[in-house]
Amino acid sequence: MSNRRVVVTGGAGFLGSHLCDALLGRGDQVVAIDNLSTGKMANVEHLFGAEGFTFVRHDVSSYVWVPGPIDAVLHFASPASPRDYLELPIPTLKVGSLGTHNTLGLAKDKGARYFLASTSEVYGDPQVHPQPESYWGHVNPVGPRGVYDEAKRFGEAMAMAYHRAHGIDVRIARIFNSFGPRLRPGDGRVVSNFLVQALRGEPLTLYGDGAQTRSFCYVDDEVRGLLALLDSDHVGPVNIGNPEEHTVAELARIVLEVTGSTSPLVFEELPVDDPSQRRPDTTLARRLLDWEPEIELRDGLARTAAWLEEVLER
Ligand code: UDP
Repeated sequence: MSNRRVVVTGGAGFLGSHLCDALLGRGDQVVAIDNLSTGKMANVEHLFGAEGFTFVRHDVSSYVWVPGPIDAVLHFASPASPRDYLELPIPTLKVGSLGTHNTLGLAKDKGARYFLASTSEVYGDPQVHPQPESYWGHVNPVGPRGVYDEAKRFGEAMAMAYHRAHGIDVRIARIFNSFGPRLRPGDGRVVSNFLVQALRGEPLTLYGDGAQTRSFCYVDDEVRGLLALLDSDHVGPVNIGNPEEHTVAELARIVLEVTGSTSPLVFEELPVDDPSQRRPDTTLARRLLDWEPEIELRDGLARTAAWLEEVLER
């Protein structure tokens, strides 16, 4: 799958913009679509004028059409930070449901491969640990996080229905916490919060007691895994994430080390339904895609801190 024409929804977002870079870098043409609700033009500014890059400002929760042939549709549009999707509950539900339906319709019309950016949130607050793809999850449909979790679960069901009923060539990735340059400083996720707080000498805000765990994948590794799945013959779902698990308190300590900051820690209330543990079982990704993350957490954090420092100075 290279030298193709690829649509990336959410193309101005964190993962979407890195995907655009990687696709253009290997010779694909890219049509990036974004309504800029949480995406930023700054993430794709450097691509304007690049051969093969087109940007369209549009909300894919409404009917979407792109003229000309298309080989693949990658649906990455959605608020992804809990803070964002709690502020945008209905747009989050719409882009995961209507947006998935509309972009599947585009893929069907064009005879294109369809790639759904799903999430570890489909596992909810998991009772199986680590989480294999065969686990059906433990999601509260009526809790505040349900707007994201259920939209993505619906998206998976919709993609599989198009695959079965219409023969659409589908790929589903379950993306675990990922981080790197272009995380919005104010996006509310733990890595951007801690790094910005550490760089500014402000207290690091630990929610709950900080004993909850996450597994953090650097964006270059994440994108490499996503493209390996796109190019593979496997429908999925496949977990694409880093299996190295850390408590949030450990992450805070590592952020302080990497940035050389002396910021204190403060404890704040744990958000409702915040998963107590999360770690991907990556057996499938290793076996089917020969993929595993290579970049150490400390190294990834240092690269992200360097980028954030520049942004904060500006
Ligand atoms: N968290 C935290 N302090 C912050 C932001 C997040 O302790 O300033 C915690 C949050 O409660 C969760 C974990 O860090 O347990 C990861 O949160 P994030 O918002 O990055 O993503 P999630 O994995 O919950 O989708």
